[in-house]
Amino acid sequence: NSYDLQNRTAVITGAASGIGAATAELFAAAGARVALLARRRDRLDELAAKIQAAGGTALAVPADITDAAAVNAATAQVTSAFGPADLIVNAAGVMLPNPIADGRDDEWARMIDTNLTGPLRIIRAFLPGLRAAASAGRAADLVNVSSIAAHAMFPTFAVYAATKAAVTQLSAALRTELGSEMVRVTNIEPGLTDTELSGHIDNAEIAGRVGEMYQALPALRSEDVADLVAYTVSRPRHVNLRQVIVLPTPQA
Ligand code: NDP
Repeated sequence: NSYDLQNRTAVITGAASGIGAATAELFAAAGARVALLARRRDRLDELAAKIQAAGGTALAVPADITDAAAVNAATAQVTSAFGPADLIVNAAGVMLPNPIADGRDDEWARMIDTNLTGPLRIIRAFLPGLRAAASAGRAADLVNVSSIAAHAMFPTFAVYAATKAAVTQLSAALRTELGSEMVRVTNIEPGLTDTELSGHIDNAEIAGRVGEMYQALPALRSEDVADLVAYTVSRPRHVNLRQVIVLPTPQA
């Protein structure tokens, strides 16, 4: 690949599958040390082994980002193995659509905690490293994976859309706080991407409709989104692609 991330230390949440896993693999191939965060230890171990076999440096860090203590423990583990990280990608997320009238508190709580509060915990934990890199004159990146769902509306996706709109707003607001310190904040908004995301939908009718959407399009591959993330973080440090929407060409 054509990206140079030598001497960078990355933390990628959601690295067990999909966009997070593809991003970790690409970053490692570009020379970054990568810390892989998600809950499924077996998936992280498998990806770490694959990266190491290809000559990269990876650390599997099983952690649930809805658990503040787990995030703090993961931060300590990453920092003791690699030193402070200068490249954070918040890719972990869940999408649990259901009609609002069903009133699924369990799903609302999981989406808000995973998609919004989780990234906040990660940002709080790793911000000192980002600031240190930036003040030493090195690149420092915070990338949040939001969604086109922050703008495009679909019935039954209201709460997911609300969490993603919140992430988009969070990214824009944090730029005003961190950009002046040269910590670059990038918000990525993908359209339909072929991952495990829709596998957690527990409503058969909605799952069927989402399946048809995937069938109708050639969806993006996780690698397509990873490529964009790698592109944004390998620009010169004064260049900030602050918000990038990437869609499958036929997606309206
Ligand atoms: P996947 O389901 O493949 O990946 C989600 C990742 O998040 C998994 O690695 C999962 O691992 C991890 N995760 C979920 N919950 C937690 C948790 N509590 N703590 C730590 N990690 C967690 O889907 P995608 O790759 O598609 O999703 C990545 C991001 O992209 C999400 O934020 C999603 O909203 C966004 N997105 C996806 C689109 C798509 O069409 N696929 C479109 C637009 C945005 P584990 O279960 O092991 O914890």
